[in-house]
Amino acid sequence: MFSPARSWREFPQRYRLEAARCTVCGKIHYPPRLVCSACRGRTFETVAMPREGAVVTFTTIHVPPKGFTEQSPLDIAIVELANGVRVMVQVADLPEADELRIGDPVRLEFRRICDDGEAGLIFYGHKAVRAR
Ligand SMILES: [Zn+2]
Repeated sequence: MFSPARSWREFPQRYRLEAARCTVCGKIHYPPRLVCSACRGRTFETVAMPREGAVVTFTTIHVPPKGFTEQSPLDIAIVELANGVRVMVQVADLPEADELRIGDPVRLEFRRICDDGEAGLIFYGHKAVRAR
């Protein structure tokens, strides 16, 4: 059976937005990695990612993949968070008449991402919503 508590433990970076900061040069990696891309360092500390950021670029997918079809069209944005890390996330709660612009402030919120109808699973993750 699908256990939310188990998934929480198995995907801490994804669910808790945790990044790894290189203890040698300070570069922040999200998702975490084993070797620092800047200095080849191998020691990291876990840091929390900020929830606030700004839109770098975005696109709309008019024919979404299976599992996302009820959310058509699907807005996807690259968001630069307050610590400079860029993440690709789905945009939620955007009215049809509203248009995102580059530089718009957004906030990441924990939402339902999609279902796998056959297995009966529902996946959760972070989506960007317009910051007010
Ligand atoms: Zn480093």
